[in-house]
Amino acid sequence: MKIPLAKPQILESDIDAVVAVLRTPNLALGPKLTEFEDAVASYVGSPFAVAVNSGTSALHLAVRCLDLKEGDEVIVPSFAFPAVANVLLQERLTPVFVDIDATTLNITAAAIEQAIGPKTRAAIVVHTFGHPAEMDAICEVTRRHKLALIEDACEALGAEVRGRRVGAFGDAGLFAFYPNKQITLGEGGVLVTSDPAMARRAKVLRSQAKDDSLDWARQHVEVGYSYRIADINCALGTAQLGRLEEILQAREQLARTYDARLRDCAGIVRPPIDCAYGRISWFAYVIQLAPKSGRADRDRVWQCLLDRGIGAGRYFASLHGQPVLNGKYRQSGSLAITESVAARALALPFFVGMTEAEVDEVCDTLVEFLGP
Ligand SMILES: *Cc1c(COP(=O)(O)O)cnc(C)c1O
Repeated sequence: MKIPLAKPQILESDIDAVVAVLRTPNLALGPKLTEFEDAVASYVGSPFAVAVNSGTSALHLAVRCLDLKEGDEVIVPSFAFPAVANVLLQERLTPVFVDIDATTLNITAAAIEQAIGPKTRAAIVVHTFGHPAEMDAICEVTRRHKLALIEDACEALGAEVRGRRVGAFGDAGLFAFYPNKQITLGEGGVLVTSDPAMARRAKVLRSQAKDDSLDWARQHVEVGYSYRIADINCALGTAQLGRLEEILQAREQLARTYDARLRDCAGIVRPPIDCAYGRISWFAYVIQLAPKSGRADRDRVWQCLLDRGIGAGRYFASLHGQPVLNGKYRQSGSLAITESVAARALALPFFVGMTEAEVDEVCDTLVEFLGP
């Protein structure tokens, strides 16, 4: 790809931070793990952080820590990353799919409230593409109905709702650090929570569920995992987190450049550039083709961009359409917005260091295919 879809920013100081760890004997469960966890907890404004090897692992531990029973229902948006459905199926829970708001692409308090049934125990909010969901309204509904609440903030590190950072609203919040995210650890994820018991249990679960506070011969009281993350990854994370504000500002500026360049293109729906109740943390710049177009039009433009060496992504496909569900889900109301957006969404190249000339090339190519 001449212009990639995403690209991490790796500075010499990042490389030095990683190499320094390699010169120590502490490659796993060492001081860099704790340092990264403390830095994330303090940044997000959540008392506890538990770092693991992926965002999906963090989501899995969060769901496990809710202690739900087989067949219990969890409300989720259908327009989401596949991990959201996978972890529920792994835990033998039943996803209840709801539609999204057409502007923010997020689950809403009203959709959650309408979807609640006798077996509903929890909801997962996804802050889609870094646009924060309306957490005050959502928390009011989940509190009133005594539902547990998990925030999948994997795309939204640094996003805010009325001055509070996302991830700290729910019973658990999670972030992911694959190289296409705002900051990367190579691979990695973190669970944040204000519940000391959940933080303690997540730490036990991430390393075989070996509970050192128990008698040596009987330390495994539940099924655990190997979800640890290496200290070299954590050192990279702490270095990147230290300049997150700079990164977020550069990404916002890039979004504004795209917004100005595509303003007059009638065939394109641009993402909202501001959020009335908070701050967007720009994960991706995702346009939609005009409402009258369909999947074939989007796929044609997507292929044309790829043919020109321009990275583009089709996310997300709806979750409720995935064969793996095999009927093991419930749907609440119409999922028409999800289906329409899934068919028309197109992620454009978006990374720190992208030049105005590169933005011009992407936009000129789009206008060439779609008309002015
Ligand atoms: C990236 C992401 C995850 C987790 O990703 P991993 O690849 O497991 O680190 C989870 N949810 C959403 C919405 C994501 O974008």
